[in-house]
Amino acid sequence: MSLQEMRYAIYWAFMGVAKPTKTLAFLRARRRVEHSAREAAPTRVEDLGSVSSLSILPLVDFYPGREGLLGEAGVSYLVTAGCLRILFDVGCNEHDEEPSPLRRNMDALDVSPGNIDAVFISHCHLDHVGGRRCQKEKTFAISKEPVDLRGIPAYVPTPMTHPSARMDFVAGPRRLGDGLASTGPLERAIWLMGPVAEQALVVNVQGRGPVMIVGCGHPQLPRLVERAQAVVGAPLYGIIGGLHFPVTASRVGKGRQNIIGNGKLPWQRISRSEARDAAAMLAALDLKVAVLSAHDSCDWTLRMFEEALGDRYRTMRVGEEIVIA
Ligand SMILES: [Zn+2]
Ligand SMILES: [Zn+2]
Repeated sequence: MSLQEMRYAIYWAFMGVAKPTKTLAFLRARRRVEHSAREAAPTRVEDLGSVSSLSILPLVDFYPGREGLLGEAGVSYLVTAGCLRILFDVGCNEHDEEPSPLRRNMDALDVSPGNIDAVFISHCHLDHVGGRRCQKEKTFAISKEPVDLRGIPAYVPTPMTHPSARMDFVAGPRRLGDGLASTGPLERAIWLMGPVAEQALVVNVQGRGPVMIVGCGHPQLPRLVERAQAVVGAPLYGIIGGLHFPVTASRVGKGRQNIIGNGKLPWQRISRSEARDAAAMLAALDLKVAVLSAHDSCDWTLRMFEEALGDRYRTMRVGEEIVIA
């Protein structure tokens, strides 16, 4: 720890935010995670296959697509890959409501939990597992009242429990079905919250290529892209989801996203130049589709992504289906 880091650790302790031991633990975890990320050899998933079509229907995101749908700073997408329907994350339900915004949007969009074949949890953060209580208890919930998931598989990147889904912990890159794979959990140390393991879903679409669906983007764009391309062995056709660039504004709290969740110390914010680098990387990837989430990126960043990608870019909105076929 440098002298400056030590000074700041004491400052945050003095402000009553975090004990210096928290900051020290963060620095240690960050070194460990960075080391293991360098060591890890990306694994190709054999016999992945492909699907003839892919549809992503945003059920929860920051911007609603029309009146009658709710927006919140969380994520839930209905991913239909071939004939398999996967619920990707379950929103935030910030006020612990019954029915939750996810449940209300599902009703408005005519999506029934009874028609879902599997759940895929990107990572155990409140805006992806259905709220603060779920994050704390390492579970997930579609709404405040239990929703029976009939023993369907729930692919999770970290050990979690659920009263009616069959938990399937994904320890590394793995095939989940025809043309479907997980990148496996990618770890990132986060100040105050501790290390988080996040997985992205990769869907290989026939005649197009792999599409990566990502929750919060904590592992950062270069690592996610490298891993997803290694898993399939082909360049990405599209990226859908959140990349975590709250540069000029935060969707939750008083700048909470700018401070927490970016893998840095609290006085080191995500800079405009980092977001510009990400936009340049997206533009250079030769993507055909990029639909990015506003739940963890500010409008300034999204505008810049749009400038870099032109008509290949769209902002994610609840109810606005993305079809790749
Ligand atoms: Zn997160
Ligand atoms: Zn998120």
